[in-house]
Amino acid sequence: MKNIRYNLILVLTVLLSISSVWSQEQAAVVKQKSNYNYHDAFAPFFYTKNGSNTRAASGQPGHEYWQNRADYQLTAQLNEQKNEITGSGVITYTNNSPDKMNFVWMNLDQNLFQADSRGNAVVPITGSRNGAQGQIFDGGHKIKSVKLVTSSNGKVTEVAAKYVISDTRMQVFLPQGLNPKGGVVKIKIDFSFIAPFEGSDRMGVLETKNGKIFTMAQWYPRMCVYDDVRGWNTNPYLGASEFYLEYGDFDVKITTPSNHVVVCSGELVNPTEVYSSEEQKRLAQAKLSDATVLIRTAAEVNNLPKTTSSTKTWHYKIKSARDVSWASSQAFILDGAKINLPSGKKALALSVYPVESDGNDAWGRSTEYTKTSIENYSKRWFEYPYPVATNVAGNEGGMEYPGIVFCGWESKGASLWGVTDHEFGHIWFPMIVGSNERLFAWMDEGFNTFINSISSHDFNNGEYKEDKADLHRDSELYTNPALETMMSSPDNMKEANIGTLCYSKPGAGLVMLREQILGPERFDLALRTYVERWAFKHPTPDDFFRTIENVAGEDLSWFWRGWFQYNWRLDQGINSIKYIKNDPAKGIIINIENFEKMAMPIVLDVKTKSGKVTRVKLPVEIWQKNVDWSFKHNSTEPIESITLDPDHVFPDVNEANNVWTAEKGKVDEDLILDGFLGTFTTDKAPLKFIITEKNGSLNVEIVGYPKFNLTPTGKNKFESKRAGLQIEFNEAKTGFEMILGDGRKMSFTKQ
Ligand SMILES: [Zn+2]
Repeated sequence: MKNIRYNLILVLTVLLSISSVWSQEQAAVVKQKSNYNYHDAFAPFFYTKNGSNTRAASGQPGHEYWQNRADYQLTAQLNEQKNEITGSGVITYTNNSPDKMNFVWMNLDQNLFQADSRGNAVVPITGSRNGAQGQIFDGGHKIKSVKLVTSSNGKVTEVAAKYVISDTRMQVFLPQGLNPKGGVVKIKIDFSFIAPFEGSDRMGVLETKNGKIFTMAQWYPRMCVYDDVRGWNTNPYLGASEFYLEYGDFDVKITTPSNHVVVCSGELVNPTEVYSSEEQKRLAQAKLSDATVLIRTAAEVNNLPKTTSSTKTWHYKIKSARDVSWASSQAFILDGAKINLPSGKKALALSVYPVESDGNDAWGRSTEYTKTSIENYSKRWFEYPYPVATNVAGNEGGMEYPGIVFCGWESKGASLWGVTDHEFGHIWFPMIVGSNERLFAWMDEGFNTFINSISSHDFNNGEYKEDKADLHRDSELYTNPALETMMSSPDNMKEANIGTLCYSKPGAGLVMLREQILGPERFDLALRTYVERWAFKHPTPDDFFRTIENVAGEDLSWFWRGWFQYNWRLDQGINSIKYIKNDPAKGIIINIENFEKMAMPIVLDVKTKSGKVTRVKLPVEIWQKNVDWSFKHNSTEPIESITLDPDHVFPDVNEANNVWTAEKGKVDEDLILDGFLGTFTTDKAPLKFIITEKNGSLNVEIVGYPKFNLTPTGKNKFESKRAGLQIEFNEAKTGFEMILGDGRKMSFTKQ
């Protein structure tokens, strides 16, 4: 559209022979106190950096996106008496980055359990789920050797490598260097560790009636991620913040007493060597069955010999995974069922649990929950990529790994459904979408909490459906000024705030975005696109924000700012109402105001005297340049009540100003404008003001100039900020003074 310039001012200035332009100063009108600043909320440049060759402005991986790769060949030997794992790993690390490397960094996360670790130093004595819960033992990774493996002409050479261990990190030096864009190094590490009973609530050893349950994770030296964002990501494992790992293929051989069942990320390669023929038969049935099939029963577990000197080696493989974890026990009941995937492929749901957890009100339904959860997420977001999904009853509250999760052995009913569905939801975030958990827990826990909320509705006709959230009630929790921001890492927030900031607040944010801001169709496509774009890759927060904005076609900087970047509050309120020309039959003008830093769209219900309720929705754009806003509602009878956010879908911290009622609320007088209308002239200049009424306000037309509105500022007083003038009518309204910014006046008379 054409740009309109108000050269009226310039013309009048010339006519009056004054050299100064009219003042643009605003009239000093005292308004009710609001903390809202629309520039803060809607300012440009939300993103602090532009798109790049590796990360496109649209939020997809850039045309030069690269990612390094780590393939692992691992072995583990379990000493059941000593809770000791002895293992070896051959890591084939591929440097796809454009940078030459002279060393690599690895995670030795077991070192959290060393007495003198940084994590041990920062885990509080009480009230924490992290660390080893006061267990005194010889924890930590014992590195026996680190070797660089080379082969030439079929001859394999192993050379001891120089390495430095610093807390939970190990730097391995590469004297030959590692070439960019495809250079490969093979590192062989022999290690052992004693498993803690409670490993920061993510792995451990549980004593049961029929023997120990070992849930093993963070068990082998894992590559740190080298990325285009920070280079090496070497933040230590302190307990609260989780992991950031490279993708690759895994080949794992686990040797345990022969009376154990071993489950692991991925698919069992040698079932005939480890299962009895009866178990193999039942396993084959389970693979074809939608109902759960018992493979090793409670009675069989109870009758097993309690000790054995023989061992079995279980061989597992998983592809395109960022980690591998396993569990082993002679106490395991084992059952399974088929998982139906959208492409027609089948996967297998398995559960292992002790007799203490058995029963249909408990782990007897674990496989059903696992199957349903995986099928649901596959349908809604992205197909499950692994051949098996295993739920393990352990002494963790609940912890996720690729293709395998550890859930609390005491969980039952709704809580077992909840934890199973949550931990398997993690397959999508962060196992498929490999974000940096150590820094941005909301990108896995929060996104997962969101997909869980839909899944709970879907499961078994809402058997465990949760009540709809009341964001008015939750607003104090979500936007309490004492909270850190969601962008803070878990290591950078009070442990008590992690549940809010990493789980429920981002989860509620995505619900708002889906239900109120974008609508399910646009949101779901955007989130699905995010998962597809970043599957098996490493997205940053910006890659998420940009993808949602680009796919949904919406600038959401105001939303990211208020809810994700800052901890802003929302308080929408109703200021006043007035009937047009003081006549309820002609409709009402409702004035609302934004009192806090965050902006949100408006949803309100208008109820009239006869009981009719009309829902009014206003877009967030009303707050893009206004602190308060008046709008017309075409009601035809007196108003009984007006309710802002009647369904409590926005986190409004102050409900007191959300409802206007006829009983208690005030109705403002509408100014009757009839007396101010007419044609006015002055003998000082050839100017004619034609004042008419339009949409309840005075409209001024001066021949040859754009029209403008007058806003009442007091008795008989009006102004136009746009035209830069004020008008004051005399008592009889037979004329007015036009007042310039510097106070000089010009008289007009009604014709
Ligand atoms: Zn989680």
